[in-house]
Amino acid sequence: MKKTETKSTVLLAHHLKSLRLPTILAECEKVAARCASDNVDHLAFLLQLCELELINRDQRASERRLKDAKFPNYKTLDTFDFKSQPSLNKVLVTQLMKCEYIDRNENLLLVGNSGTGKTHLATALGIAACAQGKRVRFFRVTEIITQLMEAREDRDLLRLRKQLSKLDLLILDELGYVPASKIGSELLFDVISSAYERQSLIVTTNLPFENWTEVLSSERLTGATLDRLTHRCHILEASGESYRLQDAKRRKRTSRSSTTATTTK
Ligand code: ADP
Ligand code: MG
Repeated sequence: MKKTETKSTVLLAHHLKSLRLPTILAECEKVAARCASDNVDHLAFLLQLCELELINRDQRASERRLKDAKFPNYKTLDTFDFKSQPSLNKVLVTQLMKCEYIDRNENLLLVGNSGTGKTHLATALGIAACAQGKRVRFFRVTEIITQLMEAREDRDLLRLRKQLSKLDLLILDELGYVPASKIGSELLFDVISSAYERQSLIVTTNLPFENWTEVLSSERLTGATLDRLTHRCHILEASGESYRLQDAKRRKRTSRSSTTATTTK
């Protein structure tokens, strides 16, 4: 807003800034000129400005939610090839994308070997949840355990727990890759217990349930963790071959057939 600077436009700009209406501030002159030429009345003019502000505000909030979630990559379902992972329940994945499980505080366990698309799917589900206004945070299990242990040492655990409790969906990626210490397992268990029936969790793991004791320090803790996680829980299993491996094989085949093609020419 700078074309015709009068006392009222300067004051209006000031008030719009105080009221935190940046889109109205940026657009009001343009919309006013258009409404004047289209003979649009004052209330309809005001309505157009309010709508612009709301659309922009939603977009900014959605961008903020995505940034706060700290996804490792931007992965969506559009780029997920279900054909290379036929064991995966596509109907369930499509249903989970609607995020109703989050409203019901249900959990999701994604089980499968390395490279079978668990992180990809967890991210895609997390991004879908952000788009639907949910507060999401993505952690690798080792990362959340480190943060919890550091917060505990700094006597700052309460603050971190409070932050986590505000989330609608907490994604814990890669349970089972690195065994946790006794304290680490207990702190992780505490997060899982606090989330129980209040928030949704997505946990990805390469470990079958019977091997969880190997990473969660004790049988008692493993039992209690599994009990909370798997009550009201959806389970997705990817039992196929690693996508990376399939991709590498595909590339090898293509390069071999192109060399054969050139040599037979
Ligand atoms: P995991 O977490 O199970 O080890 P990732 O999700 O990290 O596997 O997948 C490894 C790579 O392969 C990623 O770049 C991912 O986007 C890709 N990928 C895995 N499965 C698929 C799939 N079915 N379709 C498309 N890309 C896939
Ligand atoms: Mg992964």
